[in-house]
Amino acid sequence: MSAVELAQGTVAGIRAENRGPFTLSGTNSWIVGRGPAWLVDPGPMLEDHLSALVAELERRGGLGGIALTHDHADHSGAAPALREHFPDARLAAARGKVDVELEHGSRFGPLEAIATPGHAPDHLAFVAGDVGFTGDAVLGVGSVFIAPDPGAMAGYLEGLRMLRERRLAIICPGHGPVISDPRAKLDQYLAHRLDRERRLAAALDGGLRRVDDLIAEVWDDAPEILRPAAVITLAAHLDKLEDEGRLPDGVQRPAGWPISGLQP
Ligand SMILES: [Zn+2]
Repeated sequence: MSAVELAQGTVAGIRAENRGPFTLSGTNSWIVGRGPAWLVDPGPMLEDHLSALVAELERRGGLGGIALTHDHADHSGAAPALREHFPDARLAAARGKVDVELEHGSRFGPLEAIATPGHAPDHLAFVAGDVGFTGDAVLGVGSVFIAPDPGAMAGYLEGLRMLRERRLAIICPGHGPVISDPRAKLDQYLAHRLDRERRLAAALDGGLRRVDDLIAEVWDDAPEILRPAAVITLAAHLDKLEDEGRLPDGVQRPAGWPISGLQP
């Protein structure tokens, strides 16, 4: 567990000890304001993490509500236990058994929801003042995998553009370090996605059709352990090209989602 304070103490970050290839140094939980405070992503159900959250929330005068960026367990797992400590705290997310169902533009305490589908169809980012909380839409380091779902890649790019328009001062991501230059990071994310798409289109133009060949050509920089994530993202890119009428015939489509061993 490690903690940081940002924005003159308005925001506190507490990192869970669930490090891994997808969770990086662990999931970040973000606490906003005080009297009561609001929480973005309780994180995984780990006793040490839960105690750290409870202590900080009590120090800040209680918990007004819990907002989930998405319902993957590494972001939402501690929510039920946390609500036992703070029974009045409302739970809000885009789907699932929640008290408040959020959509793009919803307000929840100091948070405004921004639709950022892609990594998961229910994914939301939150903005409070000039601070962004991006869950798995934008990470402190590296890029995220995009899960195939109708319109996932196009929706993801649109979400990144909307975040970019907010002129945020900092981004507090779901994993990895705080992003102190959001504009540059979002530009980099957009360029990275469009670069992959360009390289994929070139590989298809060059006659490649098999998943293995496309991955070897377009994701040549992806470490072996992230290959399943690259295959999932390839599927989302192929869906987008198909939606745009740009997919040639005979392209092998990745199968077998969810890929075993992949813990979002
Ligand atoms: Zn995550």
